[in-house]
Amino acid sequence: MEINEIQRKYIENKLKILEQSKFRSSFHLKKELKEYVTKKGMSQIERHCHDFIIQKLAPYPTIKDGKQTPMKGHPVFIAQHATATCCRGCLKKWYKIPKDRPLQDREIKFIEAIIIEWINKEMAK
Ligand SMILES: [Zn+2]
Repeated sequence: MEINEIQRKYIENKLKILEQSKFRSSFHLKKELKEYVTKKGMSQIERHCHDFIIQKLAPYPTIKDGKQTPMKGHPVFIAQHATATCCRGCLKKWYKIPKDRPLQDREIKFIEAIIIEWINKEMAK
């Protein structure tokens, strides 16, 4: 995933702030989801992540906002809750991304980058 130094710093800062949220910091990858990541490989996880974002978050009007991301079942879902990229409501609250239009390419790239960064950090624990 290509992100520049400014974006990397922004992501690092956001992850620090998210860690201070009791709710956001309560999400972790359990053993079986870590094993899933290892089995699939990060490039496959990145593809899944891209598909979820494109299908469930990017379109406008948004379908069932706040309910489109399950609380379990895939490492990306867990990462989305941990990083507040689970729905358009959370994206607006945490990242000031407007809800009343489709996501832009740069926003999709950023969302994917913060999700993958969170998963990488979890995998290193
Ligand atoms: Zn949400």
